[in-house]
Amino acid sequence: MVHFKNKTVIITGAGGGIGRCHALAFAKEGANVVVNDLGGARDGSNPDEGTAATVVEEIHRAGGTAVADAHSVSEKAGAKAIIQTAIETFGGVDVLVNNAGILHDRTIAKMSEEEWEAVINVHLRGTYLCTQAACQQMIAQGRSGVIVNTSSTSGLFGNFGQGNYGAAKAGIAGFTKVAALEMLKHGIRVNAIAPTAKTRMTDDIAQVPEALKPEHISPLVLYLASDLAAGITGRIFAAQGNYLQEFYYAATRGVKKEGSEVWTLDEIAAQWEAITNRSLTPATHDDLAKLDQLLTLGLPQKFDPAKAGELKSGIYFHVTDGTDYTILIESGNIRALPGRKGVPAAVISGDARTIYNVFTGQEDMPAAYRSGRIKITNIGEVMRMQQIFFS
Ligand code: NAD
Repeated sequence: MVHFKNKTVIITGAGGGIGRCHALAFAKEGANVVVNDLGGARDGSNPDEGTAATVVEEIHRAGGTAVADAHSVSEKAGAKAIIQTAIETFGGVDVLVNNAGILHDRTIAKMSEEEWEAVINVHLRGTYLCTQAACQQMIAQGRSGVIVNTSSTSGLFGNFGQGNYGAAKAGIAGFTKVAALEMLKHGIRVNAIAPTAKTRMTDDIAQVPEALKPEHISPLVLYLASDLAAGITGRIFAAQGNYLQEFYYAATRGVKKEGSEVWTLDEIAAQWEAITNRSLTPATHDDLAKLDQLLTLGLPQKFDPAKAGELKSGIYFHVTDGTDYTILIESGNIRALPGRKGVPAAVISGDARTIYNVFTGQEDMPAAYRSGRIKITNIGEVMRMQQIFFS
């Protein structure tokens, strides 16, 4: 069974390295592939139209379907033209893999503005422009879509001599998370990968051995682009050879000072160990994002005015390791407001993960309350509101 029959997949920077492997793998899985590549040297100089065409020939020889596109991802007109190539040749776009990239390594103190801008333009601006053009088309098509971006450990963890590249790649990780949230309602999933492979980009890096081939990266990208990854969005995965991982942000459990007075420096100093203590079960970025999404998007989407009837209620979610919200229900309407608003009928207080699990019914509310992991001022009211959404 092939996974991408009748699907159109655009891969930027697919004339060589990792992108070429993605293109060959998608074509093998039955996709119509747009092989985009501006061509040229590792630093983006000397564009060469033939680069994309060579990979298209390779796909045709293997019996696949592909078209070449030599526009630059970093120009607005170029990004639009890439999407247009997919529309004119195959009638639309289902998957975009933002992979194009260049390098201009230099330490920050010595870097020229040109070196900074060239790298930011191709990686970060190129990812933004192509994502925007693809999303506009996907939304107009009215069917789901997938974007896979290419980040790097260089940005996620830092790498000497790559201030421009690291900033662009960390920017792509942040952009991925925002795009995933914004595209949720359109059924468009957005994830990123951080690959490590021997290509011309890593030619001169001894720590990247020949054994880490660009071919190793493609299965993860195809998986994320396929229906097998339904529901997976806003996340960052790593591939090095056959070793796959997820990178996620974590926060310490942290300390919240009660009351309205700001922290004094001496208080921060006194609490520093607790604030930065990583040994307590940390709140992961995913816990916080899941609760934020539930309260700001999930509940309003699930809200059924008929079920709520004349209910007038307000619950203040006091999230000890995240953002506080008040959910207000009145006259058949629901509002999710940041912070504490009005005089809530109930206060539910605890860490993001426990609140999420308890409110979605994945953990028993009275049990969590009895064990002290969560505090609730009016358990009946919280259960009443919970039933509107989860019964
Ligand atoms: P590569 O140089 O072989 O591939 C990059 C491709 O992008 C080239 O074919 C190039 O012509 C094309 N390109 C450059 N500017 C373009 C533009 N403006 N428009 C369209 N195409 C353009 O390098 P690679 O290692 O295959 O890199 C692929 C992606 O993976 C890049 O985003 C890179 O930053 C990322 N990455 C690679 C590694 C690694 O270990 N190789 C590590 C982390 C991230």
